[in-house]
Amino acid sequence: MDPLSLVRPNILALEPYSTARDEFSGGDIDVFVDANESPYENGINRYPDPRQKQLKSVISKIKGVPAERIFLGNGSDEAIDLVYRIFCRPGVDNTVMIAPSYGMYSVAAATNDIKVRFVNLEEDFSLDTEKFLAAADQNTKVGWICSPNNPTGNAFPVSQIEEILRRFNGILVVDEAYIDFSSEESVASLIDKYPQLIVLQTMSKAWGMAGIRLGIAFSTEKVNEIFGRVKYPYNINILAQRTALSKINEQEKKRHVEEILKERERLADGIKDAPCVKKIYPSDANFILVKVDDANAWYDRLVSQGIIVRNRTRVVLCKDCLRITVGTPEENNKTIAVLNGKPLPEASERHAKIHRQTRETDITVEIDLDRRQAETDSVSTGLCFLDHMLMQIPHHGGIALNVKAIGDLEVDEHHTMEDVAIVLGEAIDKALGSKLGIGRYGFVLPMDDCDAMVLMDFGGRIDFRWDVEFTRDRVGDVPTEMFEHFFQSLASAMKVNMHIKAVGTNDHHKAESIFKAFARALRMAVSRSQFPYELPSSKGLL
Ligand SMILES: *Cc1c(COP(=O)(O)O)cnc(C)c1O
Repeated sequence: MDPLSLVRPNILALEPYSTARDEFSGGDIDVFVDANESPYENGINRYPDPRQKQLKSVISKIKGVPAERIFLGNGSDEAIDLVYRIFCRPGVDNTVMIAPSYGMYSVAAATNDIKVRFVNLEEDFSLDTEKFLAAADQNTKVGWICSPNNPTGNAFPVSQIEEILRRFNGILVVDEAYIDFSSEESVASLIDKYPQLIVLQTMSKAWGMAGIRLGIAFSTEKVNEIFGRVKYPYNINILAQRTALSKINEQEKKRHVEEILKERERLADGIKDAPCVKKIYPSDANFILVKVDDANAWYDRLVSQGIIVRNRTRVVLCKDCLRITVGTPEENNKTIAVLNGKPLPEASERHAKIHRQTRETDITVEIDLDRRQAETDSVSTGLCFLDHMLMQIPHHGGIALNVKAIGDLEVDEHHTMEDVAIVLGEAIDKALGSKLGIGRYGFVLPMDDCDAMVLMDFGGRIDFRWDVEFTRDRVGDVPTEMFEHFFQSLASAMKVNMHIKAVGTNDHHKAESIFKAFARALRMAVSRSQFPYELPSSKGLL
């Protein structure tokens, strides 16, 4: 089918507005007096590239789709609206879409005065091909399939979408906003075979750029050319283009998708036995749809604990369903705890959260010296061995700890380890507050196959002694030389006098016993003594 035969006649006849920058794109110009811009450079005084050449070439490489087939919009929402404006005559044509699905298809239809024909999914959220096809008539110009579907989470088999493409007499838009999380392939490669296919993707989900509003539509060159005619000339502003170019990072996106997929499973696993959970629907997206006994009540309960989910109970086929986005491990732990009926532990007085961002690292540490609940502890620094070591602190220190660090590990481990130590130390110091009534001293010497000693004194004099030798260069992904620096940075940020000594044969065990001993000594030193209004110092001040 020729998709151009479906375009509204007024759009086919349209002469697009031609921008100053469209009319001249040659080289070697250094005086720009064609667009009535301000000549004073401030980084944003010029109009953006109306065709987004540079950005499209980057996206083209990533997606394996030629730039001539790529439309970039102010979110997918712009592409959704343009599809109606290009193909559907207001008050005359109609559109067919699955239900439940993404709300913008029907909102944009209504604003364009296009009648909607909903095709309900089956109980298991599968799609009956015959029902979808039967819903169309000669005025149906556009059909919508969201795969993986929002809010149900399931993807439809490519073979089924292809069958609909073979038999549907209109434009078929397949919205792949969640394709990066799916086990199904993208259908973008079918555009050659079925020129009436338009595929939507977005930078808002897996790519982590919802804030800059950047949606993508893939279509044939001819259809794409019409998108270009109808859109606002400068639809992607200069900040969005620039930010996308600097933030697109395939490695990071891949890592995040892997983490989300792991967490999706862990989240589902963590709530599947909760008494309120009736059903967890399988997901190909970065969220799960969960049927509970009373969605409104659980929605309120979650809100009261500081967690907001999407209540879908009023959506067709989704009675008592909550849509829960997969978050960080720490966030998921909280959701798991609340749905299992456990109130989140309230932060104690000796609680601190510190966020510190530098050019090299972005670190958040949350610590609670008096909280003993293990469910919500999490440590993620990008260094597996360091994570393993830091988890000894909540385990053996009996304190609640969350560490999230993103550092320039591609450069070296140094910045990340040093800054984690500094922020952790500052958080401990802040949580301690006035130090009123603490034990002040900590000393341990546990016997493993290694012999580690950690002595600490919160007396106010910062000092550090290190008496440890490693034989290997690295343990796991951490260079052993960094441990001394780590504890030294920690000691000075904690404002503590610390002496660490360890002997033993295995470097892994040696490091581990130091962290364990540190955790035990910390527990002892920060614990409240039986005389809570006294300072354990003869000077009366710490
Ligand atoms: C989130 C989402 C989008 C993305 O919309 P943007 O406007 O690009 O942020 C598109 N389709 C569906 C189904 C979504 O859930």
